[in-house]
Amino acid sequence: MSDNSHARIDIMDVPQLDRDAAGLIKGIQRHYLRTLGQHTSSRSNHYKYQALAYTIRDHLMENWKNTKDACSKQDGKRAYYLSLEFLMGRALGNAILNLGLDDETADALHQLGLNYEEKIEMERDAGLGNGGLGRLAACFVDSCATLNLPVTGYGIRYEYGMFRQLIQNGYQVEEPDHWLNYGNVWEITRPEYTQRVHFGGHSECYTDDKGMMRCRWADTQDVLAIPYDIPIPGFENNTVNTLRLWKAAATDEFDLGEFNAGSYPESVAAKNNAEHISMVLYPNDASESGKVLRLRQQYFLASASIKDVLRQWTETHGNDFSQFAEKNCFQLNDTHPTVSVAELMRLLVDQYRLSWEEAWDITTKTMAYTNHTLLPEALERWPVHLFGRLLPRLLDIIYGINAQFLTKVAEKWPGDVDRQRRMSIIEEGDVKQVRMAYLAIVGCFSVNGVAQLHSDLLVEGLFKDFYEMWPEKFNNKTNGVTQRRWMAWCNKPMTRLINDTIGSGWITDLQQLRQLAPYADDDAFRQKWDACKRENKVRLAKLVQDTCNVEFNPDAMFDIQVKRIHEYKRQLLNVLHVIHLYDRIKRGDTANWTPRCILIGGKAAPGYYMAKQIIKLINNVADVVNHDPDVGDKLKVVFFPNYRVSAMEVICPAADLSEQISTAGKEASGTGNMKFMMNGALTIGTLDGANIEIREEVGDDNFFLFGLTAAEVDSIRGHYDPNGIIAADEDLRRVMNLLECGHFSQFEPGLFAGICGAIRNGNDPWLVAADFRSYVDAQQRAASAYMDRTSWLKKSIYNTAFSGKFSTDRTMEDYNREIWKLTPITPLSAA
Ligand SMILES: *Cc1c(COP(=O)(O)O)cnc(C)c1O
Repeated sequence: MSDNSHARIDIMDVPQLDRDAAGLIKGIQRHYLRTLGQHTSSRSNHYKYQALAYTIRDHLMENWKNTKDACSKQDGKRAYYLSLEFLMGRALGNAILNLGLDDETADALHQLGLNYEEKIEMERDAGLGNGGLGRLAACFVDSCATLNLPVTGYGIRYEYGMFRQLIQNGYQVEEPDHWLNYGNVWEITRPEYTQRVHFGGHSECYTDDKGMMRCRWADTQDVLAIPYDIPIPGFENNTVNTLRLWKAAATDEFDLGEFNAGSYPESVAAKNNAEHISMVLYPNDASESGKVLRLRQQYFLASASIKDVLRQWTETHGNDFSQFAEKNCFQLNDTHPTVSVAELMRLLVDQYRLSWEEAWDITTKTMAYTNHTLLPEALERWPVHLFGRLLPRLLDIIYGINAQFLTKVAEKWPGDVDRQRRMSIIEEGDVKQVRMAYLAIVGCFSVNGVAQLHSDLLVEGLFKDFYEMWPEKFNNKTNGVTQRRWMAWCNKPMTRLINDTIGSGWITDLQQLRQLAPYADDDAFRQKWDACKRENKVRLAKLVQDTCNVEFNPDAMFDIQVKRIHEYKRQLLNVLHVIHLYDRIKRGDTANWTPRCILIGGKAAPGYYMAKQIIKLINNVADVVNHDPDVGDKLKVVFFPNYRVSAMEVICPAADLSEQISTAGKEASGTGNMKFMMNGALTIGTLDGANIEIREEVGDDNFFLFGLTAAEVDSIRGHYDPNGIIAADEDLRRVMNLLECGHFSQFEPGLFAGICGAIRNGNDPWLVAADFRSYVDAQQRAASAYMDRTSWLKKSIYNTAFSGKFSTDRTMEDYNREIWKLTPITPLSAA
């Protein structure tokens, strides 16, 4: 140690920051000039955002340090949320809200002559996820910080996040999202915690110094994992947790042979290859990709994160792992990080020299798995030959786990060879595959679904064999969303009204919103509620005008479906209804008409042909509808481009009607449905995912239900007759006719033949035609209900009032009570 321990001043003894406007102004000025080197004629507005962001970040830093100190001091159990996706969106507004600095920031910016909203909008979304699964991870870490739970998020710092979606000639065009262009104020790199991750090579056996037979992984090609830490502030509680994202980098060992032979470029090329691992997020939602690079990403995250946890453990406990399982828990967000099961085994056995049995005991007490889908195409499997080439030692271990597991199956069901084949982690066949979900179930002590229906269907169907073996592993954890971002931040008008009415306790205890219910009968309150909703609709209308050049009348019903474009989510059913409304207008059937503005948005996976065709159809229908003078203000339709977190922050507060219309049994939970409900939208939906629980909470009168149940969907297979349904339904027949006669593809006849064929196909898995009639009827009930203003406003208020269950605070409390069992940390006070 070269530093003098007789210091007279502690380097950590930093003066307190002033939390008033004057203090913020000082910070902004200082960062603008001294951190960012700006001058009077700065060319970019971005630096003013950055100066504000650095100033706000300053206020997080001490609490971040204090949270780490409190965590070490307490030395309690910790949990790690492993996820290939964190769809964080913007951080600045959330930090301001959670620090309780909203008014002071507004004041400071006002004094500096800077526009608050404009500065907020300079920040690029951190779009490190596809959709619901990634956004769930973001809401989870927010709630854990607010609940003082010692939970660290582990993910990948993708250089390019979710692609930016442009619409050209009605088609989706993808553009790379280089979100780090201007740097990222919120990340702090920690090169001292860099980890080495192995790939390739081979496994070999040897005799160790004690004469024991051991295995090791030799001749590997290594990649460095460099951590970038992002602060995750809790709400007004001085806790700041950590999201640690790994960036891949080449080791600085050059190939000396090539270097000396004068091949400098060749010897540096390896660097490029290593850095590919964290280059780009795979843009597939709810479907596997099967690419080697994706498996490299998965193992990169798993290995770096587990090594990081073991590093922290051994720093305080040496090589004594007897307490490890009592003090650590890994939550796997879907099967994506499931190779963690094998990696923890490998490290404990090969590196720390535990016996297989000891290591297995620890692994199966620390790993927990969350399943996110019932769609068979999303169940990850890796070809054994590919897996073995990339991760040979991990494949050995998986074979070891499988052998031991199949012995247990054989003991429990002697002679049931078919069951062994069904349950094997290794799927036999022309191309042998590793079934990642089965590895997860075998290696984890907890397996949960994300809504009650989904959890029930898992144990009745997909995982039935495993449920029979280990019923105690299976449980439900209904998803949620954080009300800090999805109400308090994004819906300031309603937040103010609610705070004035019942106080602000709901921001950390969402069930308190129930106190709003009696106000549904208060006319003055209803008028104020209406005014808030209208203000939000005006804001969205402006955004729609600016981005789509279509005028939304804020007095019309705002009917909204935003989510990834997928056949099971049935944007197509929505379009059929739009065409039906258009047809009614054209034939003059417009008595008691409810004017509607319909907004549909979402990204399609770049390789998903049908989803991209559906986007084109929506755009073509919108074009015809919006330009037909007979239609006028009765109906407007837009496809909103580049749907993302920051767009949803404007969209959900403005919605009247929330479209949650998936084929029953296909949407595991949904969380968009919860954001809309919380913001006072009524749902039109099927009995699917969390819709069922939403309807239970708000009551049947305040929800527009339609469609087949999951059981009916199952039993209709084999005798589904869409052509019969179409022929028997005048409205649907006319809609199909408009589609098929090329009314929406005047210059490209036959453009939508694929879509029409899918609807007419008796094997249509999504049963679009089957639910058309009951959907249109439910839409008519919604339209009529909207015209009765008093009644609609009551229903809207009830939706918000009964959304308390759908906070991720509740979800995290459920995880903690039943899976993690962490003691909340007592944060040191900021002083
Ligand atoms: C909430 C959210 C989702 C999930 O929406 P679902 O309707 O549940 O599929 C997807 N993307 C973004 C940007 C979100 O905010």
